[in-house]
Amino acid sequence: MADTIIKIDLDKSPYEHDNIHNRWHPDIPIVATVNPGEDFIVECMDWTGGQIKNDDSAADVRDVILEQVHFLSGPIGVNGAKPGDLLEVDILDIGAFQNNLWGFNGFFSRNNGGGFLTEHFPDAHKSIWDIEGMFTRSRHVPGVNFAGLIHPGLIGCLPSRDELNKWNTREEKLFNTDPERTPPLAALPNEYCAHMGRMKGDERDAAAAEGARTVPPREHGGNCDIKDLSRGSKVYFPVYVDGGGLSVGDLHFSQGDGEITFCGAIEMAGWIHMRANVIKDGMAKYGIKNPIFKPSPITPAYNDHLIFEGISVDEAGEQHYLDVHIAYRQACLNAIEYLKKFGYSGAQAYAILGTAPCQGHISGVVDIPNACATLWLPTQIFDFDISPNANGPKKQDLSAGAVCVAPDL
Ligand code: ZN
Repeated sequence: MADTIIKIDLDKSPYEHDNIHNRWHPDIPIVATVNPGEDFIVECMDWTGGQIKNDDSAADVRDVILEQVHFLSGPIGVNGAKPGDLLEVDILDIGAFQNNLWGFNGFFSRNNGGGFLTEHFPDAHKSIWDIEGMFTRSRHVPGVNFAGLIHPGLIGCLPSRDELNKWNTREEKLFNTDPERTPPLAALPNEYCAHMGRMKGDERDAAAAEGARTVPPREHGGNCDIKDLSRGSKVYFPVYVDGGGLSVGDLHFSQGDGEITFCGAIEMAGWIHMRANVIKDGMAKYGIKNPIFKPSPITPAYNDHLIFEGISVDEAGEQHYLDVHIAYRQACLNAIEYLKKFGYSGAQAYAILGTAPCQGHISGVVDIPNACATLWLPTQIFDFDISPNANGPKKQDLSAGAVCVAPDL
């Protein structure tokens, strides 16, 4: 039986755990060590450390303290791993805790981080998703249920000092081009709410002031939010410090490509069962800068889709040059407008795109001036037929639930 090398207590604050941290820094001490080839289990809080509750109010999403995120379990040392190696990590399984079979999805208020469609959904919203074995459904979003493509949103190794300095320098440079922007251009180091694991005293304070936020994906992987990095996949991470220092968190029961709702996918606390091996000098041998991975042999068999196209012309009709971000936003907005014809509110439709196993594709990036992105909506997740036909859309009775909303105070 695999050992649980990191245990957490959901009744306690993440700050009462010394095997959790929420910043990236090379000096965060390793809290557990494994041998190559050994499998082990790591328990994780949800990414907010329990700030979001299983209830029918979005006030917690509105008032979330974003300087606290993400709470990661680790770092885990792997004997023999050295800078320049690749850490080969098998994600053997992931699950929610039996006494905590639910997850949340939300959109942040524009005044607290905002998100992908913040101009269209400026208020905080929340939906709760019940986990029923491998399936999920929400009392706030009737008419839809699906199998989870369960994955860690955030996983990677500690940066070296050089790597950390590189991240901080380039992100600060971007931030300074428009420091007043909402949402900000980058999440810079911030000692407020920093949790540096087992570090103490002056050393801890100095590291908290310069530790990289966990918000973006970077060369080490980190917050990639790749739905296909699911149980059964094998990932190869660059190693920058002795032992690797692997940390993981932000477990998702399910997510659509892009994690467009931002708060986030179906976010949950739970456990992840892994095994690590070391490929000596693997970074140079394979020319690796960012992680690579092999997907799981098991994925939900939703093979029929309704595919929405979007181009890089924004909502005001303005032309943008090959902008994939805008093209994907248009594809998502087109899908939301379509789902509204079946009786969903815009917020429910947005929640579906953020949680269900929707695929996002960059379809064209060379045909000036328009990029083309597509949003693949699985049709089999709905309790009713969503295909277009000559009779027009049939409005469903979805009065059983609505996504919770909390306007700004
Ligand atoms: Zn997440």
